Amino acid sequence: GPTTGKPKAKRWDHHLTHESTLRHPCKLKQAAKHLNNPGLISLGGGLPCPEYFPISSLTLHVPAPPDFSEAATLAPGGGETLTIGKYDTTLPPPSAGDALHHPEYDLSIALNYGQGNGSAQMTRFVTEHIELLGAPPYADWGVCLTIGSTGALEQILRMLCDGPGRGDCVLTEEFSFSTALETAVPLEVTTVGVRMDSEGLVPEAMDEILSQWDSVAAPGSGGKLAGKRKPHVLYTVPSGQNPTGATQSAARRQAIYAVAQRHDVLIIEDEPYYYLQMQAPGTAPPSTVDEFLKGLVPTYLTLDVDGRVIRMDSFSKVVVPGSRMGWITASAQLVERFTRHAEMANQGPNGFSQVILHKLLDERWGHEGYFGWLMNLRMEYTKRRDVMAAACEEFLPKEVVSWAPPQAGMFQWLKVNHTIHPHASDKTILDIEEEIFNNCIARGVLVARGSWFRAEQDVAPSGLYLRATFAAATPENMREAIRRLGAAIRESFQLYG
Ligand code: PMP
Ligand code: PLP
Repeated sequence: GPTTGKPKAKRWDHHLTHESTLRHPCKLKQAAKHLNNPGLISLGGGLPCPEYFPISSLTLHVPAPPDFSEAATLAPGGGETLTIGKYDTTLPPPSAGDALHHPEYDLSIALNYGQGNGSAQMTRFVTEHIELLGAPPYADWGVCLTIGSTGALEQILRMLCDGPGRGDCVLTEEFSFSTALETAVPLEVTTVGVRMDSEGLVPEAMDEILSQWDSVAAPGSGGKLAGKRKPHVLYTVPSGQNPTGATQSAARRQAIYAVAQRHDVLIIEDEPYYYLQMQAPGTAPPSTVDEFLKGLVPTYLTLDVDGRVIRMDSFSKVVVPGSRMGWITASAQLVERFTRHAEMANQGPNGFSQVILHKLLDERWGHEGYFGWLMNLRMEYTKRRDVMAAACEEFLPKEVVSWAPPQAGMFQWLKVNHTIHPHASDKTILDIEEEIFNNCIARGVLVARGSWFRAEQDVAPSGLYLRATFAAATPENMREAIRRLGAAIRESFQLYG
């Protein structure tokens, strides 16, 4: 990022794990810098010769803006065709010493070994993207491409949290993405749930947990937190949170950031649904990219004067999950430690993904075109959310189920009032949840059980929730599925008529 006159990020040496401090640069990847020397013949790294790559071109058929729809793309003569060759013959060869900045990015480069942080071409694209979205206010920020946020979180947790050695814990929303919670389990990192309201994580509740930590976690206190280190990491999904659908307002983000500063906490900002912030009912959609970007709740990056935020972006929900590609944005120190792990774990995202996304997003669409795609996508999700909201109104028994349509993401969170279940006195919440789930399966609808997402699986639940996604089914099927869900709940609660 630009370095002009801004302070550098704080150092986080005291938060790194022993494992992370033991990571050294990959010798063979370090040697690649000499490849820029004019005339150098490499007998160094074991890069296979592209002559033996049995793929000489890729052809992509993609939407032609401004009509991004599948119907227009698949219609005769619709969409457009892009070709990626093995050797880019349309461009002059890179000038000496300029290899990394040359626009040329063909299969001979993309399908060979590269650097662990990803190709220079795709790295530049996501850096510029973050500059347009809102860069951090400190000087030494950077990016590293990832194999998606699932893998990125595993790398980050290993970098910052040592469960067995230091008794490290991570703060999360009280209901959190189940895979993220499952990532922490084998690392023996304890997840501590923070209370939520309609805007997601409640900063006062986070402050209270951290302020009272020393007495709650005192070695002799006997509870599950006894002897655990005060949490120094928050994992949060600020927009369209999975599973609750909650979106933190700008003021909420500021308040949470202030608590993180007060208690020396790093923030992992997991934002796969950031661009699925939907149109408020009755408002006109943005007509320009500028208006679109101004209308988004600001990312934590823009608040991050200390360099304590690691933002995870992912192409999964906004391009394709099978790309297994995303990136992190963070301080140079954290990006460097993360990259050292990537070198030994996955060597960054695969070359097919990088070259295909680069061709489409950078070369063909450019930033303006990609934002156009994202604007289109959020309108599609707005329509889907509204179909689900209408189906819920029509088919769910309001005496039992309550909900609020989300402002972002792909999930509708439903609260079921278990206290008026006919067997409320002799069945647990989990029993009733299971009964509803089984009724749903019997009637041909799958919903996610709220208990799957509880940050503290060892504590008895206090409420009964279900998660329904409006991402997957057609509008007709979504309506039918919610009708079946309503019937399954009525059956369980013995509501007839
Ligand atoms: N193991 C050995 C012995 C190797 O020589 C190499 C490639 N140099 C690798 C693993 C790395 O393999 P991959 O590209 O599948 O990560
Ligand atoms: N984080 C959250 C909050 C998610 O909901 C998901 C997808 O379900 C992911 C991360 C996974 O992202 P990726 O496909 O980039 O690994």
